[in-house]
Amino acid sequence: MIGLTVLGATGSVGVSTLDVVARNPDRFRVVALTANHNHARLAEQCLAFRPEIAVMVDAGAATVLRERLAASGCPTEVLHGAPALAEAATLPGADAVMAAIVGAAGLLPTLAAAKAGKRVLLANKEALVMSGRLFMQAVHASGAVLLPIDSEHNAVFQCLPPIDSAGLDGVGVRRIVLTASGGPFRETPTEALDRVTPEQACAHPNWSMGRKISVDSATMMNKGLEVIEACWLFDAAPDRVEVVVHPQSVIHSMVEYADGSVLAQMGNPDMRTPIAHALAWPERIGSGVPALDLVSTGRLDFEYADPERFPCLALGFAAARSGSAASAVLNAANEVAVAAFLDGRIRFPRIPDLIGGALEGADLNEPASLDDVLALDEMGRRLAREAVARLAR
Ligand code: NAD
Ligand code: MG
Repeated sequence: MIGLTVLGATGSVGVSTLDVVARNPDRFRVVALTANHNHARLAEQCLAFRPEIAVMVDAGAATVLRERLAASGCPTEVLHGAPALAEAATLPGADAVMAAIVGAAGLLPTLAAAKAGKRVLLANKEALVMSGRLFMQAVHASGAVLLPIDSEHNAVFQCLPPIDSAGLDGVGVRRIVLTASGGPFRETPTEALDRVTPEQACAHPNWSMGRKISVDSATMMNKGLEVIEACWLFDAAPDRVEVVVHPQSVIHSMVEYADGSVLAQMGNPDMRTPIAHALAWPERIGSGVPALDLVSTGRLDFEYADPERFPCLALGFAAARSGSAASAVLNAANEVAVAAFLDGRIRFPRIPDLIGGALEGADLNEPASLDDVLALDEMGRRLAREAVARLAR
């Protein structure tokens, strides 16, 4: 039995993770579940999986959860506050930690799991984008096993042999090709982007996801973050990573080798496939995902990823080339810009403007410590917040 902590249990990835766990009850024992403030959903999950501990970041929500579980005779201990997230991530009984908190809020618990040598199932790409080298150093120092959940990186992982110190060259890899759906605005005239609503931005054509990553997919900042994520996960220079738009989201990514071979991983667009892959790796388990029917899919299309239409993609590549400081500022400014768009305070095309402005205004000194990373994050947030305030005036 693998002991599992799910950070961000109530979100889209968290719920899909528990769905896979429920289908494989002989393999997994849930030891901890965490959420921000959705006590109703966390209560249902605690009653179903009976973890040792549950963490609610919000203290009031924790009180409601505690009372609800006590009334149902559920033995789960309820903790609250952000520091308790790291406690859930490092419980001795947790062999594996699903890192599925959204955004920078996931950094400290995910890093704690890496330092504790856990099997880290990484959905929370923002944690790696922010802390790149430090995160990878923590993984190597502790002997943690880092497995990508992001469908593209999980696909690349599946298409690669084990890599030693000779890196991608040692196994003959020429390029990593990340696929992108192009999101809901792939064909929207660029003039019309000024009027798109948060609901339209969150209506992804192929994937059902949380609101932040849905907006990131609409701007293609999601792919920008994924380029940075791929560079760290696979120790790849940014120039080895390419992005191609593939509207059907059936090929999840590809690896091209020196001899011209291209290996792709395919499947229906359902996160339960990469989740099940990483949960069971190197074995395979059922995920509940229906078989891929290529005949009814009919065709697979590919398009050039247009940096003019998607300036956030170009910003992501620029940050990957610039280094860790730029990546941390880009991530922070993006979180502020996306939240402002979702709250109706700025229009959609201002998102890349704000991020570009923050990158220009920031002091980009490469971080040497976690404190440096957190300071860069704060700087990116401050610059973006100031720009939102100027736009709102
Ligand atoms: P979501 O918004 O659906 O869920 C987020 C989870 O994080 C919730 O459980 C919430 O309670 C928790 N959370 C939010 N803010 C928090 C805070 N401040 N402190 C502690 N917990 C907090 O998000 P999601 O779509 O499940 O995405 C989660 C992560 O996985 C993101 O980093 C995203 O980029 C990545 N990811 C998601 C998908 C997908 O299909 N949804 C695919 C690939 C990668
Ligand atoms: Mg992805």
